[in-house]
Amino acid sequence: MKSIATLLSTGICLSSLLFGAPSQLGYDDTPYIPNQPYRVHDQKRPQPKVITSPTESSQAKAGKAPSDAVVLFDGTNFDKWNHDMWKLTSEGSMEIAPGKRKPGEKKKSTTLTTKDSFGDIQLHIEWRTPSPAKGDGQGRANSGVFFMGRYEVQVQDNYENQTYPDGQAGAIYGQYSPYVNASRQPGVWQTYDIIFLAPKFEGDKLVKPAYLTVFHNGVLVQHNRELIGSTSHKKVGTYKPHGSKGQISLQDHGNPVQYRNIWLREINTDGDLAK
Ligand code: MG
Repeated sequence: MKSIATLLSTGICLSSLLFGAPSQLGYDDTPYIPNQPYRVHDQKRPQPKVITSPTESSQAKAGKAPSDAVVLFDGTNFDKWNHDMWKLTSEGSMEIAPGKRKPGEKKKSTTLTTKDSFGDIQLHIEWRTPSPAKGDGQGRANSGVFFMGRYEVQVQDNYENQTYPDGQAGAIYGQYSPYVNASRQPGVWQTYDIIFLAPKFEGDKLVKPAYLTVFHNGVLVQHNRELIGSTSHKKVGTYKPHGSKGQISLQDHGNPVQYRNIWLREINTDGDLAK
């Protein structure tokens, strides 16, 4: 058996062995992310420190939105969403339903998208990954929250499941790993509280990039991050001009992730809450 020193010297992470993560966590042939010493999905990027999140007061029941919030989902209907293959559960959540596809049927895009469009917002969303966990790396309960259909905060089961750090839960996919890994166990509800500030364009020119701040289970994991561009896989994302408002989407990556208690508050560009 190899010694720990030998394993480390060969670049194999001990915790990945203990937790059964794949030895190939990411990539070493992708482009470098601007202003960072790491490649996109760099497998050598340091793994965020694992911490224990604060305890939720209630796992059994979703909380209530503030009185001035736009409630996108309260557990009872899909009225605010363009709905295709998602289903309501008896516990007041919604779930991606990849099983509804017929065998051999070509995968359809079943991303769930809001009917309305939004600019700068504060978003609250709760999510739960299946227990027992299935798959590993990027294949374990992959989903995501997309702002304006372009900018993803990753949703994934990263409890004792390593992947490339810029693609794990709390990451701004392909751009920034979370400060810490605040993931809860599979089957336990988790929260995101996110401040998204939309980019601004004048004609084809970007005049202000997008910014994201993310709390995962009440823990700050991204602070006022300047986005490099749209979310991309194995590439450095770039900006393409778009309107001042866009839809929010929940990604179907083929894994049955659940969501509940989704609400937002619109913010104007001066930082005051919109009426
Ligand atoms: Mg995803």
